[in-house]
Amino acid sequence: MACTIDHLRPDHAVRVICDFTDARGKLHRAGETGIIRQMGLDTTEREIWIDWEQTGASSRLHFSLGSTSGPRNGHMREYFELGGNEPSAEPPPSPPPPPPPPKSARAHAAREPLPAETRLGEVAVACDCDPALHRAVLIEYAGVNACMRCGTVTCSRVIGDDGRHTGNAWHAYVSVAVPPTVLDWLAPWPRVAARPHLSTRWPTIAGLERRDLIYLPADARCETAEALAALEADCRARRQRPGFPKAEPPDDLPRQMAGFAQFWAALQLTPQSDLAQVMALAQLQSAGSAIAVEHLLHRADAFDVMVTALSSPDPTWQSAGIAMAWESRPVDPRLADVLIDIMSRLPLAARPDGSGRITQYGRFEDLFVVIAELKLATPEMIAALKNLQRRLVRLDVDLVSAITSVLRELHGEPPTQPRGPWLP
Ligand SMILES: [Zn+2]
Repeated sequence: MACTIDHLRPDHAVRVICDFTDARGKLHRAGETGIIRQMGLDTTEREIWIDWEQTGASSRLHFSLGSTSGPRNGHMREYFELGGNEPSAEPPPSPPPPPPPPKSARAHAAREPLPAETRLGEVAVACDCDPALHRAVLIEYAGVNACMRCGTVTCSRVIGDDGRHTGNAWHAYVSVAVPPTVLDWLAPWPRVAARPHLSTRWPTIAGLERRDLIYLPADARCETAEALAALEADCRARRQRPGFPKAEPPDDLPRQMAGFAQFWAALQLTPQSDLAQVMALAQLQSAGSAIAVEHLLHRADAFDVMVTALSSPDPTWQSAGIAMAWESRPVDPRLADVLIDIMSRLPLAARPDGSGRITQYGRFEDLFVVIAELKLATPEMIAALKNLQRRLVRLDVDLVSAITSVLRELHGEPPTQPRGPWLP
């Protein structure tokens, strides 16, 4: 699943605006810049990781999900700003334009792979159309983008100067060379646009945000951005899902594009598929999660499978269980009692790192999101949450306030702190 954390997303330049020390003790100073390549969640370590490049060198930042200070989910804006703007009231200087793409790069059609390292400037697709007509192919931030006007498909990665020596940060796309067989396999997948819903919930991890994915057929064409917006609005209203290609992924699919293979694998699931394989595809971090979850929810024993997954000690199964519960409709009347039982069995032990959180807070938060999303407002659930809240008062104030949010949602009361959507 493509990951965004607050305003941060892959392939964007960022500037540190407040000193911080990451979970490995590495100090970073305000003014440092870099380009985010990848982000994700390590469910075992319960850490957010961010791979970024500084003056061409890659390194990984680690942030504990248990931390109540420093960069963390819901607070990244306090530490990072996007782009090369100076963190001051002065008008920011314009970053130097990246080298213009050679005109010859623009002439390539979808099925003619660009030479490697062709500079594309600030647009992800090697065509001259309005970049507002460019859309990701199947998965956001997976390095494959297409033009809805001329049909060009371009595989790319991002380069840039982090501004350490020049004072200005910029980023630009450069083509990634893929064999023609790979481009032929990627090109027919639908194009995608994500529309997050307004959220008033406390910060949750990517994957547990309600959003609509709008898929457009690969051969849909629009002359203008307005026509594309109208087409997307229409597809969104009709909840239309286009056909997906059936061909097996090529062996030489680059690792950067592994999400496409996950998505394809999820589409191949059958009632005979090995349950462990289905669970691996259904977990929230998988690009095939939604498809695998749909498959699981169609099983005759879907409820039992979901309960087994939610109760499992295995983080992959837990994640798949949460993904299933999040999508399960109509809500099984037994689910509230199952979740009460699971919460009652989770230990309330403080983390040894002095973070003021309990070891199992992540599991509680995932369960709270499901309880709020499914509006499991039974009297027993309300009583269980209030009881849990009392037991957590001296152990984890963040969970105490998350429970306050859940109870307000369950009672249909407005949130105390309205929050905007995750994406700008
Ligand atoms: Zn175009």
